Amino acid sequence: MRVVQKEPELRGLVAQARGRGRSVEFVPTMGAFHEGHLELMRQARRHGGLVVVSVFVNPTQFGPDEDFDSYPRSLEADVAAAAGEGVELLFAPTTAQMYPGGQIDTTVDVGPIGRILEGEHRPGHFNGVATVCAKLFNLVRPDRVYLGQKDAQQIAVLSQMNADLNFGLEIVVCATVRDPDGLAMSSRNERLKPEERKAALALSEALMEMARLVDQGETDIQRVLERGHSVIAGQSKVSLQYLEIVDPAHFRSLDRMTGGALAVAAAFVGSVRLIDNVFVGTAQAARTGGWQ
Ligand code: AMP
Repeated sequence: MRVVQKEPELRGLVAQARGRGRSVEFVPTMGAFHEGHLELMRQARRHGGLVVVSVFVNPTQFGPDEDFDSYPRSLEADVAAAAGEGVELLFAPTTAQMYPGGQIDTTVDVGPIGRILEGEHRPGHFNGVATVCAKLFNLVRPDRVYLGQKDAQQIAVLSQMNADLNFGLEIVVCATVRDPDGLAMSSRNERLKPEERKAALALSEALMEMARLVDQGETDIQRVLERGHSVIAGQSKVSLQYLEIVDPAHFRSLDRMTGGALAVAAAFVGSVRLIDNVFVGTAQAARTGGWQ
């Protein structure tokens, strides 16, 4: 596997693969790999094209009081893990390369979707995500981009950018990978203390309980939300930021159940902020392909 930092080298290797008629499959990440990231890489490999993985902890998607400094970084282990998955090219640019002089003036504004739910609690976050992804997409020029359902609103934001700004990418969504007890894997989980790790489970338990209730025929969204809230209320260490049922494409809150809805939640457990989501609704198709 080649590990490259600089734009010309990256572009050269991508051009070489293109010259051989290969497709380019791209997995953007912030590193500190877990099984969720590796699953994206495995799915990307299935196409037989050049798999490019980026590792970049993007400062512009963190607010001033957020965890940019304490975000886990483990490039050496990440390189070994990606190589183990058969990834051919890992792009790990420095902040100075991505933001010469500390900042760039041209940015992507994703509009209203960037101001609700995650966007309301993390002002500017999605503009930072969209801007860095626009840069990465232009650097790599992939055919397909692999994103995890874990960050569902990010998928909606990047799908919107892809359509609005004509990137022409195919976005492949990979299901959320969970620990055996149900907790969604996240690089931030390693910062949870043992008792916080136990408490954090309330998030996935609440969402799954809500999905179960809908499966049993409940159509009243308020009652479904109440059930979720009652699960989380049982855990004093979990400080809920939001729990909603939304449509997966626009993240607008629903007032009645439709075929494919997404239950989404965010909470602080100690100083660690976690998000999770599950599809709710009887339409099986919605569970596997809400975005496609
Ligand atoms: P991150 O490094 O956290 O920015 O995530 C990079 C990519 O991995 C994003 O597309 C995430 O949605 C995806 N991802 C993170 N956690 C998981 C997970 N538990 N299961 C599946 N994909 C994930």
